[in-house]
Amino acid sequence: LLRQASEPEVAAPRALVGARLPARPGRWDVELRDGRIASVSPAATEAPAGSVDLRGRTLVPGLHDPHLHLLALAAEREALVLPAEVRGEAALARLIAARARELAPGRGLRVRRFDPATMTRGRLPDRSFLDRIDADRPLRLQHRNLRFDLLNTAALRRLGLLGTAPPAGVETDAAGLATGRVFQRGDLLSLPEATPSGPELRRLVASASRDLLAQGVTSIGDAGAHNGAAELALLDRLGEEGVVRQRLWTMASGQALLDEDLDPADFPRVRHAKLEAVEARLDLDRLCAAAAAARRAGLGVAVHATTPAELAAAVAALGHFDATRTGALGIDRVEHACVASEAAVAAVAETGAAVVANPGLVAEAGDSYLAETEARERADLHRLRSWTAAGVPLALATDAPVTALPLLAAADAARSRRTASGAPFGAAERLHEIVALAAITATPAALVGRHDLGRIAAGCLADLVVLAPGPGGLLDGTVETVLLGGEVVHRRRPR
Ligand SMILES: [Zn+2]
Repeated sequence: LLRQASEPEVAAPRALVGARLPARPGRWDVELRDGRIASVSPAATEAPAGSVDLRGRTLVPGLHDPHLHLLALAAEREALVLPAEVRGEAALARLIAARARELAPGRGLRVRRFDPATMTRGRLPDRSFLDRIDADRPLRLQHRNLRFDLLNTAALRRLGLLGTAPPAGVETDAAGLATGRVFQRGDLLSLPEATPSGPELRRLVASASRDLLAQGVTSIGDAGAHNGAAELALLDRLGEEGVVRQRLWTMASGQALLDEDLDPADFPRVRHAKLEAVEARLDLDRLCAAAAAARRAGLGVAVHATTPAELAAAVAALGHFDATRTGALGIDRVEHACVASEAAVAAVAETGAAVVANPGLVAEAGDSYLAETEARERADLHRLRSWTAAGVPLALATDAPVTALPLLAAADAARSRRTASGAPFGAAERLHEIVALAAITATPAALVGRHDLGRIAAGCLADLVVLAPGPGGLLDGTVETVLLGGEVVHRRRPR
């Protein structure tokens, strides 16, 4: 909405005129009233007073990320995210030490996006390397593909992993002592002191929310697997008080529904129960019991499933309810579905559930997949078009902070199916840009039962994004202005 630098900026325009709309030829005027879209009509020659001329820029619905982890995303802002150009042990140590000095004594530090290939001769360091940097506070280095973690001695001690018989995945040396290298056991490693609280948490959440707005994200779904009553109340409060600016929906932990005295009716933003089908500890009876508890509470079921075995368990839990499906608040869904055979796609379609996929991983991890997997295995990785072709409603999410790409860029990876280096990856699974756009707007809105959101039509909420398309099209575009309920909440600073 930067017609001229000198023109006063309109905070709540009466209309956005001269807009292009996705998949609709010509130019359009979109009239706004009371936070909603009052009308959408072919552009008129006269623009009404209080309107803003988009001069052919594209207007899309506000983006909706249906699966992220808000509190982790906020905590992440204290983490050190390594820039790709860091090379060598000394440079890495300097960066970590500098960040650690900014934190309170004893407070844990997580370092993300560590790439062993950047170390001398690609060698993986051990805990003594981290101990030399900081022996007093717990340090955790996460591999960029989340395959393994490197911990210092303070972190191993805090997590109880220094004993003589550490759990599977915790590497030990000849003497049976933990080396600090932990493979694929992220579940063991959450350091409680890495989670901020109080005013600090509010500041970090507010800043995460602002960044999401700048990326065009006006609706979010918090998919915390451990959302018990305390977390749900906190999320409600953060939404109520405007710390989170986005429209916010939550999931209740299926475990809490079963084991704790959790009544979803106390939490107005809950639409789904989050069930965890985790291969290492699959318990189908319990999964089905949690799904049944979700149904009784009137919630949709959202099952985390990344591997083929987890997906099969998710299908079993969802299929369990076909006959008794009632008017749930949220539509049943499978989260991630990273590896799916053709048979699994058909089985998911059979349940009537939606899939919420993470195409950002194609861009972020695609080059490693290409190096480490056979073409035959890759056909099943991060399917997209297969889902829509089978009639499965498909939404796209970032799973932030697990992936770092903004939602629009993740949707662009769904369109291009290219890795960070530009290599094609499963081109057969490409989505048309209009389909990918629906998967980050109207479809996620439908999953939480909102049909007045995620579309540009009379009567819908006026959550809108003005985009300047890029060379790759809409999804490759730049977010210029963001409106939430008809009010401008973000404007890109002129360069
Ligand atoms: Zn997640």
